[in-house]
Amino acid sequence: MTPSTFDPATISVPPARLPELLARMPKAELHIHIEGSLEPELMFKMARRNGVSLPYASVDELRRAYDFSNLQSFLDIYYAGASVLLHEQDFYDVAWAYLQRAQADNVLRAELFFDPQTHTARGVAMETVIGGLHRACEDARTQLGVDAALILCFLRHLSEDDAFETLEAALPYRDQFIGVGLDSSEVGHPPEKFARVFARCRELGLHLVAHAGEEGPPAYVWSALDVLKVERIDHGVQSAKDPALMKRLAQDGIALTVCPLSNLKLCVFPKLAEHNIRTLLDAGLKVTINSDDPAYFGGYVNTNFLQTFEATGLTATHAWQLARNSFEASFMDAAGKARCLERLDACFAEFAGGH
Ligand SMILES: [Zn+2]
Repeated sequence: MTPSTFDPATISVPPARLPELLARMPKAELHIHIEGSLEPELMFKMARRNGVSLPYASVDELRRAYDFSNLQSFLDIYYAGASVLLHEQDFYDVAWAYLQRAQADNVLRAELFFDPQTHTARGVAMETVIGGLHRACEDARTQLGVDAALILCFLRHLSEDDAFETLEAALPYRDQFIGVGLDSSEVGHPPEKFARVFARCRELGLHLVAHAGEEGPPAYVWSALDVLKVERIDHGVQSAKDPALMKRLAQDGIALTVCPLSNLKLCVFPKLAEHNIRTLLDAGLKVTINSDDPAYFGGYVNTNFLQTFEATGLTATHAWQLARNSFEASFMDAAGKARCLERLDACFAEFAGGH
């Protein structure tokens, strides 16, 4: 990895300018479910054009339902919302809307999760799903300057056989996604349930990530690492309960894609001020900040940065570290990472210079 020109300990930015720095600094987003970026307005627009009826009378009524008590209460609404996505253009539109938001937040690289089983189970073809999402990623590169890639996620509440079928159906489009992940209801569905399909994906040269330690125990993080052999852990905040695991994550430089507003909304932490992000950072873990399902959890990546820094008192040095981690933990090639890291340091140099 390219060494930085910066000694992070010397970064000095007046606290009043921190919000502007957080907004403007280049960053990568590595944990965003594209179906979770479907805003109620777009959801209703698609429901109308596709003749799908939603169990909510209006955008306001839908928004009021976003009062979640845990992961499952969110997933029930999330799957209902995804039912409006039927045509290639729908998948394009939802990804394009997100990518425009990402550009506005100075995201240079976005790795988008998608859940094909949520759609194929409703009779939507794999080609329709991947085709629309991939076209939006291509347009983002040329029109927005956002480098975007897709990660196919298996739904862990379904069987491993179902995951294998999904993988088979996706392989004709192998050049349009870079890796696989594991999401949906965590507790009761440990990573090892998917050992064989992840082994197959590994043989295929796909990147591997998995949600673990969001609501589930540290044991799920261990098995994601040791059984699935993932390169990043999505969430992973429960790792703090296990000192040996913390040591392992730090030593191996395993990134955690932390999603603070998601954790708040799903009651993983009672208050943002009580989020353990600082503990994770201080232990030397490669932490990143991400939005997870921004349409449902109250904000895109910059809102996650702003509110988390305000609530926990993180500093400009932490900001630089978090942004650097996001590029290092991304699946960009070395040249792409080096370009992004240069832009990050240039942004901080400009702020430190008082411009
Ligand atoms: Zn997630």
